[in-house]
Amino acid sequence: MKYPVAAPDLSGNEAAYVAECLKSSWISSQGEYLRRFEQMFAEHTGVPHAIATCNGTVAIHLALAALDVEPGDEIIVPSLTFIATSNAVKYCGATAVFADCDPETWCISVESIERMITPRTVGILPVHLYGHPADMKAIRDLADLHGLWVVEDAAEAFGADVEGRRVGAWGEAATFSFFGNKIITTGEGGMVTTCDDRLADKMRLLRGQGFDANKRYWHNVIGYNYRMTNVAAAIGVAQMERCEALLAHRRRIAKRYSWKLAGLPGCTLPIEQPEMTHAWWMFTMLLDRPEHREPVTKALAADGIETRPVFYPVHEMPPYRDAPADGGCPVTTSVSYRGISLPSSSYLTDDDVDHIADRVRAAVAGVRTLRKAA
Ligand SMILES: *Cc1c(COP(=O)(O)O)cnc(C)c1O
Repeated sequence: MKYPVAAPDLSGNEAAYVAECLKSSWISSQGEYLRRFEQMFAEHTGVPHAIATCNGTVAIHLALAALDVEPGDEIIVPSLTFIATSNAVKYCGATAVFADCDPETWCISVESIERMITPRTVGILPVHLYGHPADMKAIRDLADLHGLWVVEDAAEAFGADVEGRRVGAWGEAATFSFFGNKIITTGEGGMVTTCDDRLADKMRLLRGQGFDANKRYWHNVIGYNYRMTNVAAAIGVAQMERCEALLAHRRRIAKRYSWKLAGLPGCTLPIEQPEMTHAWWMFTMLLDRPEHREPVTKALAADGIETRPVFYPVHEMPPYRDAPADGGCPVTTSVSYRGISLPSSSYLTDDDVDHIADRVRAAVAGVRTLRKAA
């Protein structure tokens, strides 16, 4: 494909910093880049603690484990998300309870969360889908009212904010992913942020096999090896150095798509709610009719333009078919089968975006004509 949906931008100090790790032999899970990456990330998010992990999935598990999630507990998650969100709940033996999504932002619906709270609910795990923040003020209020914790899955939303307060600073903890297609990358990698000193200590302990601080090779708890390497952190530091430019470029691409595709019949464009900043991980739009998705996708692929279908509703997949799901999550299902993501990363020039938008216009008009003819 000439235009992949996502491609990493490694054009800064990434190669130089990785070479430095190799030269100094600091390639494992200690080193100066790890310290710097965690510090830069905490500062950017506006929290005192950032704890680097080897990917974004274990980052969620680490946060839940530190919150003592156990079998019998119910955690409310959106059905419209990547599978990792609910899998981390299952790793603790707890029950993932699926809430529907908001029809405008496609993030977890606060009304739906409210309907799914039971005496066994211990926490809420909202996802900032495709980079748009979930309604964190309302979720925070609802959680406080019911004595629940909040862990944000911010894997797709590095740099987003609600009223100037960054995602990652709203929950008891929040998690990020640095997989190769995410907003900033370390190849594989993740991060947990928190303002809670005690929770931060516990996550650091569990991340590194639960080594006792005072007695060498003594373990009072069952920990994990969820550490990030200094090599991955070196890439992370180089990405953080350029993160404002990377975010600005994504915003520029999204604004240009929105402008070029405005008023196109047969589809709905993504929104950015007032008082919120979208991180624009993937520019995602809905077609009016689910049966239009495949022909549109195929037409674009023939032009070298890769697209990605929106996530399937998690509650429809085999491991989760018996899990509680709010009324079958009808909004999630509708969005899931009509949505496509367009190429969105910072390798795209204005001309690229104009060209892709032209092809999208043609493809959407094409399927609409076909339907009229039939
Ligand atoms: C990417 C992603 C994850 C998992 O991150 P990995 O680093 O791939 O393990 C979790 N949740 C969401 C919503 C994601 O998009």
